[in-house]
Amino acid sequence: LQGVSKQYRTGDDREVRALDNVSLHIGEAEFVCLLGPSGCGKSTLLKLMAGIERPSAGSVRFAGKPVNGASTERGYVFQEYALFPWLTVDGNIRFGLELKGISRKRQQEAVERYLELLGLKQAARLYPKELSGGMSQRVAIARALILQPKLLLMDEPFAALDAILRRKLQEEVARLWRQENITFVLVTHDVEEAIYLADRIIVMSPGPGRIKEEVAVRLPRPRVRTEAGFVALRN
Ligand code: ATP
Ligand code: MG
Repeated sequence: LQGVSKQYRTGDDREVRALDNVSLHIGEAEFVCLLGPSGCGKSTLLKLMAGIERPSAGSVRFAGKPVNGASTERGYVFQEYALFPWLTVDGNIRFGLELKGISRKRQQEAVERYLELLGLKQAARLYPKELSGGMSQRVAIARALILQPKLLLMDEPFAALDAILRRKLQEEVARLWRQENITFVLVTHDVEEAIYLADRIIVMSPGPGRIKEEVAVRLPRPRVRTEAGFVALRN
């Protein structure tokens, strides 16, 4: 992102400044966490990267090309999981493949792989209203991953979960990051989560969204959690 600003126009025709002249470069296969107070523009930043929103000024580029609308190259997991209530877990995960016109046989193989990867095999035939928060969140992640994005943008994906489930999903995401060559940008309010997952932590200021400071957390992986905090395992 280069010199990106974003103003929203509200229903009663006021302008709200959500981002003010933000420049940011994220490298391939990096894991970046965005932290900052409520309303500082984290979701807006993520939506601009996804192409769901357009900047009012400045430019957003991905792999050298201007971002122009949403693309399956860039997966998005929404702050509220937004599953399709009329589709089963299987149907939700399959949805994007159907749109891309992938053959039934290849759809089936891919759906099975991602059901397995996210521990959802037993839940394949259930509908969203029958799922727990953690299961819904895993479906949302599987639905984004199955399109094999190069970039996965996640907006507070574990906020609604209890501590144990949150930890389990954090571990799953860390494992995915190691296994697949995907760049991750994850918004969180949880500092511990950011330290566990990120290569780099970006802290945004309150008020019209600016980047306050960047904290590079460059621990060699894999890491383990101990009583004293996070410790990197040596190879
Ligand atoms: P939270 O941590 O609460 O999710 P956030 O950092 O994600 O907050 P944003 O959702 O990006 O914050 O919002 C940044 C600012 O832009 C806020 O002042 C918000 O009210 C405003 N805003 C966001 N979306 C819109 C919209 N569609 N229309 C008008 N104003 C908006
Ligand atoms: Mg938000």
